[in-house]
Amino acid sequence: MSKEPACKPVIIKVDIERPEKDKIRIAAEVIRNGGLVAFPTETVYGLGADAINPEAVASIFRAKNRPVDNPIIVHVADKEEVYKLTEDIPVMAEELMDFFWPGPLTLILKKSEIVPYVATGGLDTVAIRMPYHRISLDLISESGVPIAAPSANTAGKPSPTNAKHVIYDLGAKVDIVLDGGPTIIGVESTVLDMTYPTPKILRPGVITSEELMEFLGSIDMAEIEMKNETPTSPGMKHKHYAPNSDMIVVEGGDFKIIVRKVQELAYEHMNKGKKVGIMATSESPEYDADIVTIAGSRADLNTIARNLFEILRGFDDQRVDIILVEGVEKKGIGLAIMDRLERAASHRVIRV
Ligand code: AMP
Ligand code: MG
Repeated sequence: MSKEPACKPVIIKVDIERPEKDKIRIAAEVIRNGGLVAFPTETVYGLGADAINPEAVASIFRAKNRPVDNPIIVHVADKEEVYKLTEDIPVMAEELMDFFWPGPLTLILKKSEIVPYVATGGLDTVAIRMPYHRISLDLISESGVPIAAPSANTAGKPSPTNAKHVIYDLGAKVDIVLDGGPTIIGVESTVLDMTYPTPKILRPGVITSEELMEFLGSIDMAEIEMKNETPTSPGMKHKHYAPNSDMIVVEGGDFKIIVRKVQELAYEHMNKGKKVGIMATSESPEYDADIVTIAGSRADLNTIARNLFEILRGFDDQRVDIILVEGVEKKGIGLAIMDRLERAASHRVIRV
């Protein structure tokens, strides 16, 4: 990565098993004073501020250049906090918290008065989750306030899965970056709207629709559609995860046919003098292209989820003109992977 920020934020390396108390204390003080702290969660890095301080939350939007109607997830370290931040918690939501928290499940609930509208994009609902990452939990507890934190990237860009990505995108716009190494999961939390009679998945994630279906009996799926004028989740209409290069996702039921199409597209673009990057899997044959990066194994989609955003950023660093991606089956975490890939490609998807 070549771009250096004008002025560097304070970068503090933190032990992910046993976060050093003095380091967490410094970051917590910044949060309490209305500053911005980027920190690792199990999903991606978050850009955190005191969720009940409207000015602090507003500064998150400015730093990310995030559209003001795209609400932010509020992170808590203790279930008791949820009672202060919300009203009318459905029994089902309590059960989900008890079972899936701490973990990558975000619940949309009716907000209480203390949650500023700037955090919810003007909505009467609030998104809440309790991460399981030790650094996140310690930072929230030590701060003594809930922490509003979207992904710590420039809006529209691939989410950050290590501290380098955060510094590259946000540089001096953040006060402190807690560097806890690469994140564990690599795609953002599942967002589940509990304000409907039947809970609705607004964003697929590592807590899968299958798991939620088993737990709840029935769930709805929001239209995962960027062009929708009035999407259920404001974030859905905005450009997301996009690398600078063009991108095409090839999806279908037969892996061999996917591979054939990816290679055909690679030749087509190379013949036009384009620099082609392919995001392949360990099961792929050897492709002929300028850059081929293995994302992980089709037999363990978690590996692909973990590497996805880092690879998209890597292609930008290498200045490829076009990124070609093998799609995966939309099952389990595959649904979240395909959601991110299709949006990153601005829905340029070829079905074979
Ligand atoms: P991020 O913080 O970047 O991981 O994105 C959070 C996602 O949750 C976005 O897609 C938001 O639109 C969605 N979200 C947050 N709060 C709400 C809410 N109150 N209602 C619906 N969607 C929400
Ligand atoms: Mg984001």
